[in-house]
Amino acid sequence: MLVKVLGSAAGGGFPQWNCGCSNCSALRAGTLRGRARTQTQIAFSVNSNQWFLLNASPDLRAQILATPELAPAEGSRRSPVAGVFLSSADVDSVAGLLHLRESTPLCIFSTPAVQRILREENSMFRVLDRATPAAQWRGISTLPQNGPAAASDPSGESPFRYSSVPLRGNYPDYVSWALRSKLAADEASVGLLIELGEKRLFFAPSVASGSEECKKLAESSDLFFLDGTFWHDDELIRATGSGKTAREIGHLPLSGAGGLLEQFPERARGRRILIHINNTNPILDEDSAEHRAVRDAGWEIAHDGMEFTL
Ligand SMILES: [Zn+2]
Repeated sequence: MLVKVLGSAAGGGFPQWNCGCSNCSALRAGTLRGRARTQTQIAFSVNSNQWFLLNASPDLRAQILATPELAPAEGSRRSPVAGVFLSSADVDSVAGLLHLRESTPLCIFSTPAVQRILREENSMFRVLDRATPAAQWRGISTLPQNGPAAASDPSGESPFRYSSVPLRGNYPDYVSWALRSKLAADEASVGLLIELGEKRLFFAPSVASGSEECKKLAESSDLFFLDGTFWHDDELIRATGSGKTAREIGHLPLSGAGGLLEQFPERARGRRILIHINNTNPILDEDSAEHRAVRDAGWEIAHDGMEFTL
């Protein structure tokens, strides 16, 4: 399996267009030892001519254009992008679907609740039905299911399996109360598990609290991406003078008692990568003590263009 990081920042990217925090300002001034980052986006392939996306970021068009593997073959109108797995209905996770509307047949995988939110409340996503065949929406659940067959062999069996782990997040605040009251709490935000034979890829860019199941999965995966959004619980309040804590908006901070670094064990079978990093997070500064602390604890920090072979 080939895995590519097309984007590694939280919503807004790094630097963020309207943010003058010390990280964003120093990056603009060229005085920060660190990299600019687009909004979180992963792509993986099990056969190199068919690719699947983990979420669909608001930067997706530029990210696809910057990735030669995702270009259609010369003379063809068929994209190597075969499908998208959605971990939540957050704008960061789904806005890029609207970049995929030029009539490419797509498979979209999500919990039933996320599908309902996007198709019932957000009628503009029906633009994806213009493709022939129309976008196919498929459920994801905790039970592993076989991935779709390759375009070159529609009757064949996909070599990979997928499933999800509930992460106890909240529904986005744009979802109406009327709909929210009908949706299952454990379908709001999930971690995505992709398995190819014995190899496991786990993706959880938004972890509200660490469940035992999530920790076990992270430990047993060959490659896992976890929520690296904030260092401090009150990071946004420090940067903007008001707002909510990291925990209140569904992100376990990296530092502090009960933080992600403390909760997620250092022993793990595979590579541990922090992703979805907010522009205020001090780990973006490669000269910072926080950056060093994360690296010393055995974590890697995702950056755009990272690549992995499992
Ligand atoms: Zn900033």
